[in-house]
Amino acid sequence: MIEVFRSEERGRGLRATTDLRKGTLVLTSAPFAYVLSKKQKGIRCDHCLNKQTTLLRCSGCKYMKYCNRECQKGAWSSHKSECTALKRVEPKIPPDFVILLSRILWKLQNSLDDNRSENLVSVVDLESNYTRLSDSQKEALGQFVIVMHSYWGQGALPVQVPDIKAVLELCAKIKNNSFAISDEEMQADIGTGVYLRFV
Ligand SMILES: [Zn+2]
Ligand SMILES: [Zn+2]
Repeated sequence: MIEVFRSEERGRGLRATTDLRKGTLVLTSAPFAYVLSKKQKGIRCDHCLNKQTTLLRCSGCKYMKYCNRECQKGAWSSHKSECTALKRVEPKIPPDFVILLSRILWKLQNSLDDNRSENLVSVVDLESNYTRLSDSQKEALGQFVIVMHSYWGQGALPVQVPDIKAVLELCAKIKNNSFAISDEEMQADIGTGVYLRFV
């Protein structure tokens, strides 16, 4: 039904191999990393993204909010380092994109990026198309990297992304390969995710 292909212009992509009827489920995939949009803060859980009337606040950073203890526990492996970073830059709140980028870096650092064996494309192998960006786009990415660096603190970067230049490149890769996460009715964007499963 779908296949991976390479285009000269845009790099790797997915395309349909047959005509698809409207409403056909083409692909399901859990995100490698994702972030709830700032606009949905206090409305939805930062872990499962479900809407809740009352949410439990993380007692560390007081920024991330969850449905219950289960969601808080589920988020902890990705939130642990983040919680410290959020406290460090308080009262500043990093942009959603910086939170997402940092979650990816922590995930790489924790060597959870063992996805090659699972038929996934590695996050570091994504197409960045960096050279095709305009100067203003490159500058905007540079600004994200500066914010990311102060949020990250003094700790070493993951080996797969060893220096700031590599972070900049990863930044372009994520910008280029992230998808909006829609609400239940597909009416509004509630977050952003990076999906690595491609077949
Ligand atoms: Zn939840
Ligand atoms: Zn926290």
